[in-house]
Amino acid sequence: MKRIMTSRILLAAIAVAFLASAISAYQLLNPRRTWQSTPTYIVDNGGLAGVTNPTNKVINAITSNVAWNGAGAGTVINAQSGSMAGFQLGDGVPMLNFSDPTGQCSGNCLAATFTGFYRRQGRNVRITDADIVTNDTGHAWTSVGDGCSGEFYIEGVQVHEAGHGLGLGHTNVSGATMFPSVAACDNGPATTEADDEAGICDLYGCDGGGNGCNLGQKGDSCTVNGDCCSGKCRGPSGRKTCK
Ligand SMILES: [Zn+2]
Repeated sequence: MKRIMTSRILLAAIAVAFLASAISAYQLLNPRRTWQSTPTYIVDNGGLAGVTNPTNKVINAITSNVAWNGAGAGTVINAQSGSMAGFQLGDGVPMLNFSDPTGQCSGNCLAATFTGFYRRQGRNVRITDADIVTNDTGHAWTSVGDGCSGEFYIEGVQVHEAGHGLGLGHTNVSGATMFPSVAACDNGPATTEADDEAGICDLYGCDGGGNGCNLGQKGDSCTVNGDCCSGKCRGPSGRKTCK
């Protein structure tokens, strides 16, 4: 489907450094990183102007089988309703906020994911938090079932942000969920494309060893057995890989 993108609005990933290279497909965040166990996002239960039942709609969108959990790597993201009262960047509790208490997502920014929280674990890098904020004052929002007249769909935008939360950067493949901009009234990003799914498979494994396991796949670097889906980390010290 062709898109008319007269009003391209950026979807931001704050604190992400991209390599200056000619990309032709999905990009992983740098350094490459994954959650060790499937994250459960707390989705704002405080409402969003213009959207009926935003909490349930966003929970359903980001955990849908037409989004990240349908890529072939099993369940890579969970979500549940909750309060944003304790919202804090980097506290290890991933939250999806329908406002922006940080004030860092303004202007053309529709929503943003704070991807700067991770730590090295052996030779892997693990995401420890990835909170999402929404520019609720600078843009008007809608959702599936609410009609659209110049607003942005909360479902598609948050599926994009959740992709950042799982370790993906921006792609230059037009029409993919991780494309960095979206037009008003375009909910296409709510459904992932082959390029997006290839990215998730790269990170979390879709080669038969995945099955929802977020640990190392065959051939991945490891330090202890617990780093591997197979439970087998073998090889010389410093050069061990999952079997
Ligand atoms: Zn983005």
